[in-house]
Amino acid sequence: MSNDAILTINQMAKSRQKAGYSVINGSIGMMFGEDGKLPVSPSVRAVLSKHVLDDDLSYSSVRGTDAYLECSRKWFLSGSFDEAARKGLYEGVATLGGTGAVTLSFYLAKQTKSLLLIPSLAWPNYEGVAGGFGLPFEHYDLYEGRSFGLKKLAKQVADGLDKYGRVALLINDPCENPTGYSLEAEEWDAVAGMLSDERYAGRVDLIIDAAYIDYAPAGRRDAMKKAVGQLPKGDACYFCFSYSKTFSFYGLRLGALGIYASELDIAKKRAEAATKEARALWSVPNHMGMNAVSELLQDEETKEALRDEIEENRTLVKKRADLFLKECDEAGLAYYPYKDGFFVTLDCEAERIAKNLMKKDIYLAPIDKRGLRVALCSLSLSKIKGLAEKIKESESE
Ligand code: PLP
Repeated sequence: MSNDAILTINQMAKSRQKAGYSVINGSIGMMFGEDGKLPVSPSVRAVLSKHVLDDDLSYSSVRGTDAYLECSRKWFLSGSFDEAARKGLYEGVATLGGTGAVTLSFYLAKQTKSLLLIPSLAWPNYEGVAGGFGLPFEHYDLYEGRSFGLKKLAKQVADGLDKYGRVALLINDPCENPTGYSLEAEEWDAVAGMLSDERYAGRVDLIIDAAYIDYAPAGRRDAMKKAVGQLPKGDACYFCFSYSKTFSFYGLRLGALGIYASELDIAKKRAEAATKEARALWSVPNHMGMNAVSELLQDEETKEALRDEIEENRTLVKKRADLFLKECDEAGLAYYPYKDGFFVTLDCEAERIAKNLMKKDIYLAPIDKRGLRVALCSLSLSKIKGLAEKIKESESE
């Protein structure tokens, strides 16, 4: 799938809607409330609107402000890497959205002459970004049965190491796009076990694309953080964070790359290299956005209120997923294992069915030959009701 195909489908749906047609647009990864509007917190809007001072409109440093990087680490990882940060083992670079963080992590993978491994069902843009750097990549099977496919993956990592000497393993977790899979604690433990094994240790960097981290129950991040904390010497973890989904300000383009390594030299050098590349790619991050986020997250009361509001959004998406999956079961539609987050992906003849559905003004994203992604985040409960049955009908048309 072309890496801009989803945005194109979304535009088609929007223009039909504008022309007055009743549309079901489940193509794009943006959360809309039951009223069809972005659930932007009033406190976010209020703080954003204030940030038009010289200090917001001037260039920031390339790496981003210390305040922003510090409160981003705390927001996404709480205090887990406090000590690492004090020792210089955790470094941050502000980015243009999660895409910017993924881009810098792929740049680092290219610099370290790694083979990139991405899931078989994955965000299509990984291939676009890797292609831009000429970074070699392979897909790994996300699943073995209904669980994370670690056994086959371990073999593929070993083969990659034989061939390239170094591997960058991307795990999009929690709430994988497009499947909604999240690794269980035992699965993260098993990943950590593999990376510590002497056949792999010191030669595999972990890229955790955590763009949807705030849409999984809070406990999901514990096992992931524990796994990262156990990384052996010589390895690094690149956390790719995005505020797009967290605060529903997709167009503001704000994210962060967090680099953790158990060796000072690695954390420092990779952060320097990433910063140099950021300067080349986009110059400086969004100063106004960084200042607004820092103001929001430095105030404990506002921060807690934001967490509560995001929790409400998460609960709403979960309600939508429960309804949709129940109706998929009733209609006999097969879907990939789903745990949390914005999307469910149906295991079906995606392109043909997506085309049939478009004739009825239903827009979904055929993300793979056998992967039709339904963006539950963008559909109200009333639009989801009956959708599985309509998809089932389109299967036989
Ligand atoms: N990673 C994944 C898996 C995504 O789905 C997205 C956005 O759709 C991103 C990263 C990038 O997010 P952003 O809009 O913050 O660049």
